[in-house]
Amino acid sequence: MLDGCAREITYLRLSATDLCNLRCRYCMPAEGVAKREHSGICSIEELTEITRQAAALGVRKVRITGGEPLVRRGIITLCRNIAALDGVEEVCLTTNGMALPRFAAPLREAGVSRLNVSLDTLRPDRFAHMTRVGRLDHVLDGLRAAKAAGFTGTKLNVVLLKGFNEDEIPDFVDLACRYPLEVRFIELMPIGEGAQVEFLPASAVLDAYPALEEAGESGSARRYRIPGGEGMVGLIEPLSHRFCHRCDRIRVTADGKLKPCLHSGQEIPLRGLAGEGLREAIRSGITAKPPRHYMAETGRSGAGRRMNQIGG
Ligand code: SAM
Ligand code: SF4
Repeated sequence: MLDGCAREITYLRLSATDLCNLRCRYCMPAEGVAKREHSGICSIEELTEITRQAAALGVRKVRITGGEPLVRRGIITLCRNIAALDGVEEVCLTTNGMALPRFAAPLREAGVSRLNVSLDTLRPDRFAHMTRVGRLDHVLDGLRAAKAAGFTGTKLNVVLLKGFNEDEIPDFVDLACRYPLEVRFIELMPIGEGAQVEFLPASAVLDAYPALEEAGESGSARRYRIPGGEGMVGLIEPLSHRFCHRCDRIRVTADGKLKPCLHSGQEIPLRGLAGEGLREAIRSGITAKPPRHYMAETGRSGAGRRMNQIGG
């Protein structure tokens, strides 16, 4: 369906949990987040039903995210349920990759078509520092497991962090040159812990690699070809290159709140609703989607939650 600004809403980002097995410094506090009572987050059935009603309103693509979706009990059932819903054409999942060695094959069998794996550094010591508890080799094993399970078109999400990974931009571009991967450099958004970390504009990628050739836009990314390369580079610039005018997405948090815009505090509670009542609540959220965010003016996101609590 169309929102109040005549944008067609076809994409749902669904958070399966706000918990995570990593503690990335720009996303999570060192102590993590308190585990809630089971009743505090949506059940697998509730998440499925919300998605069913969103699909009835025109959602075609669903991305399952978190927190870390692979720590959610029942994640495979959720993926399978969503892939089987009428109207849903594509189920994708964003993960830090740590648990992919165990989950890649079951995810594929459950109907997940593509993965985005987040990886901000290719250096083991930096990875351990940034994630506080993670090991790079587990993510690399995860990427291999994804390939072995038959996933293609995997995207690597790299958040640009000043003073941390700017010197690795050529290494990531080189990776996209050698493998059929899309490496997506993402500008840090001033949400939660991210507001304390120094921003590096995506133009740093073009400065480091002027040979990249523009290849159009896809979703929120501007894409570039690498001359002679296998893969692609994508730049996601929520601050410096607003894509609000062609935004096609809504979000649902693990505690059942519809967020029409990532950067707005507006939330529509969906729990306890079913059938036409649930559909009507989703419809009202789509209609109320704001025309754009105001981060450029205010210097901060109005999200009112951390990234892991929204579904990045
Ligand atoms: N745990 C999964 C992962 O890391 O891929 C899924 C959730 S995570 C919140 C989704 C994406 O949001 C990751 O690529 C992460 O790097 C990104 N992210 C987290 N905080 C961010 C911020 N403040 N600005 C930009 N991206 C952020
Ligand atoms: Fe976890 Fe993803 Fe946040 Fe890192 S970015 S702490 S992996 S939710």
